[in-house]
Amino acid sequence: MNDKPLRKLLCVTAHPDDECFGFGGALMLAAEAGFETSVVCFTDGQAATNRGASTSPEELGRMRRAEFAASCAILGVTHYELLDYQDGQLEFANFSETAAKLVERIRSYQPQIVLTFGSDGGMNTHADHTMVSAFTTAAFHWAASPKRFPALGPIHIAQRLFYNTSNFFFPGRPAPLPAPWTVTLDVSRVEQRKFDAFRAHTSQLPLMDKFESYFRKRAGLEVYTLANSPSPGPAVQATDLFVGL
Ligand SMILES: [Zn+2]
Repeated sequence: MNDKPLRKLLCVTAHPDDECFGFGGALMLAAEAGFETSVVCFTDGQAATNRGASTSPEELGRMRRAEFAASCAILGVTHYELLDYQDGQLEFANFSETAAKLVERIRSYQPQIVLTFGSDGGMNTHADHTMVSAFTTAAFHWAASPKRFPALGPIHIAQRLFYNTSNFFFPGRPAPLPAPWTVTLDVSRVEQRKFDAFRAHTSQLPLMDKFESYFRKRAGLEVYTLANSPSPGPAVQATDLFVGL
């Protein structure tokens, strides 16, 4: 073993199941590379179209919390947390207070890498995804600033903020306006486990039935944009998130 600090990756999402197809490959490759991984998800998905056998939003929320835990276990996530924000309502949350919750988590967890959605809101352009991108971006910078939220502990300068981005669009849906990618991740060797993790979201299986054949062609590749880091320089293309760390 060397004396490098423990390597950690924090992934910030909006809904249970975002962690699978959005970020599942990156999370599994990080775990394989010796990173501890943490997922913070803002809502328990009570506004989902697919509601399983639930008879109330609260019951669906409880089901989806359990599904999220099962999915994170399959993805090898070390820590996972669901916050108690309302699904579909993140654009109305107080920006500063919400970002501060992430500042607190970044400062205490001290990740080198932070992953979240791009500002387009991902492939389905969900407004919650756009808001999570904005909260996480602010928190990435504010966690590193002694002027911001000094009561939330010593600053932490994370090394890289990555946005998940798209190299294909869903057929028949409004297309996002994705950021260009700087990282092309071949996740084909862990692709099957992305599907296994999604299948742990049993209330959302109708979605899988609808899109599985489409995903099968594409789940082996994830693309990310390096948005920010402490080192200035031109964008370069990479094939992993951790090079040099
Ligand atoms: Zn989502």
